[in-house]
Amino acid sequence: MSHNFGADMTRLLGAIEAGGTKFRAAVFTPDMSIVDEMRVPTTGPDETLGAMIDFLSGHELLSLGIASFGPLVLDPTQPDVGSFGPTPKPGWSGAPLVQPLEAALGVPVGLQTDVEAAAVAEQRMGAAVDMQRVAYATIGTGIGAAVAVDGVPVRGRNHAELGHMPVRRHPDDMYSGRCPFHGDCLEGMACGPAIAERWDADPATLDDRAGVWEMEAYYIAQLARVLAYSVAPDVFLIGGGVGTRPGMAEMVEEASLADMNGYAEIRRPGGGAFVRAAGLGEDAGLFGAAIIAEQLTE
Ligand code: ZN
Repeated sequence: MSHNFGADMTRLLGAIEAGGTKFRAAVFTPDMSIVDEMRVPTTGPDETLGAMIDFLSGHELLSLGIASFGPLVLDPTQPDVGSFGPTPKPGWSGAPLVQPLEAALGVPVGLQTDVEAAAVAEQRMGAAVDMQRVAYATIGTGIGAAVAVDGVPVRGRNHAELGHMPVRRHPDDMYSGRCPFHGDCLEGMACGPAIAERWDADPATLDDRAGVWEMEAYYIAQLARVLAYSVAPDVFLIGGGVGTRPGMAEMVEEASLADMNGYAEIRRPGGGAFVRAAGLGEDAGLFGAAIIAEQLTE
């Protein structure tokens, strides 16, 4: 974190990273230095958003960006745009997110998913600064993925749900999967809690002797292939606790090359791996939120 107390306080940017376990808010200068920040545990929407409003209303903001867990309604033709979609998180299904903050703070508010914002931030200041088209996935308590091109998320009517894509089962895997909607989708088979349940151990304590990480790479490689074959980004960054595990990106790269089997692999001028570890760690979403706020002022 950097402090810049001498900055022009009339051009501050507000940022919120909305997570399932905690909400973080920060105030940024135009050069992306943090001047103030806070965090609260995620409780109900009224209490949590109230804490965000209390903190942010103490600053002269130009705009506010939010990077949030999903699902979100981002389709501007829907009356509930800017709200949460159906989520197992108690109290949050259908809860409005943009509207109460916009009403209380009186500034423009922009919203992206946490992974969209992270993709944008990684391109601006992280592991993909020299690339135009960035795919990003977080692999941790859940799996989410997004693509950003030139600082803007690539979206259809709504944000992507690539964490729930179907996967081909590893031949040695008898695990049933844990997605409440699909069972053995990518998230159901390869998120951190799925690893813990399959191997009956804390993933942080597991080495690869039983093939734990080779199996994990086998699943994530299928997402690498889907991304390469759909939007063909310059790079695929993997973040989150599992994604940034030492050696994981290299294992996924190797597994994805085997999976693609020589057909339509991503080849970049100057070479270099397609699958790489993300660079911004836990701050990716918060910085991405600040970039959303910045874009609202342009
Ligand atoms: Zn699923």
